[in-house]
Amino acid sequence: MLYDIVIIGAGPAGLTAGIYATRAMLKTLLLEKIAPGGLVITTEKVENYPGFSEGISGYELMEQTVKQATRFGLEIIQDEMLSIKELNSTFRVKTASREYEALSVIITTGTSHRKLGVPGEDIFLGRGISYCATCDGPLFKDKEVVVLGGGDVATEEALFLTKFARKIYLVHRRDKLRATGILQKQLRNNPKIEVIWNSTVSKIEGKNRIENVVIRNLVDNKETNYKVDGVFVLVGFEPNTVLFREFVELDKEGYIITDSNMRTSRDGVFAAGDVRSGTLRQVITACGDGARAAVSAQHYIEKLKA
Ligand code: NAP
Repeated sequence: MLYDIVIIGAGPAGLTAGIYATRAMLKTLLLEKIAPGGLVITTEKVENYPGFSEGISGYELMEQTVKQATRFGLEIIQDEMLSIKELNSTFRVKTASREYEALSVIITTGTSHRKLGVPGEDIFLGRGISYCATCDGPLFKDKEVVVLGGGDVATEEALFLTKFARKIYLVHRRDKLRATGILQKQLRNNPKIEVIWNSTVSKIEGKNRIENVVIRNLVDNKETNYKVDGVFVLVGFEPNTVLFREFVELDKEGYIITDSNMRTSRDGVFAAGDVRSGTLRQVITACGDGARAAVSAQHYIEKLKA
């Protein structure tokens, strides 16, 4: 079957593109390798998305968005894209089980958690190492944990962890947080959180689970042991673009380059949301990108069919 649009990735950008495309009566398929919702479903509370005066959980926001998109006829299939190619003005998206064909493609594959790359990080994954406090926080009731990072996510997640953990060490490599002002204020007012400045985690040790974390001061290189039970690595994200390297132009960090209409370097291929180069990475901007990508794809398809 030939689709008008195949969207790859079901986060806020992909789902919004789906809403706009189906409302334009375009036959649209959304492929998602895990489950619809994107990374925002792990956010306890989204407070800066307009329309929810008291905030809304990331999970609930996306659950509603999926319902909204499918109501207009968006087909969502759980299947992992393995390759993509262009053939005679159509695009072939291959998965392990089958091939999908479309006139246009919208890439909304988002980003994944960046790893720290220190000894012990892989060994203790799921045994003390986590990349998501909202998911794993309850496992650390009355324990001591390290949160690594100084951005919005690390700060928000450290605050969330205060519901469970006895003590949280927020370890940041500089002497100033990157997080937004309101989060920094909440952090300063929380007695359970101690910030360790100009430092990083250099080693994670233990037997079956994490028992010790070595924290290195980056100014004097002094190393100190912390007997903690968990480490939350929240040091940013990397774009999910490995499969698109030869397909569209990427920036030097691997994000997809687009113009303001979400057009990539290849005709008929659009990108939206966090995977896009140079964008503000918020739910609201991902949704805006998704809407614009769908309208641009619509114009492209209308020209193609004319
Ligand atoms: P981020 O803003 O890129 O921050 C990453 C943090 O990790 C930075 O503090 C960075 O240090 C540190 N870091 C990076 N690599 C490191 C390494 N190898 N070792 C130690 N530390 C390292 O990422 P984020 O906090 O994950 O947020 C991602 C995006 O989502 C941002 O655009 C953010 O604004 C957005 N977001 C917004 C909200 C909100 O508005 N409420 C909530 C969640 C996420 P430096 O500061 O020194 O670079």
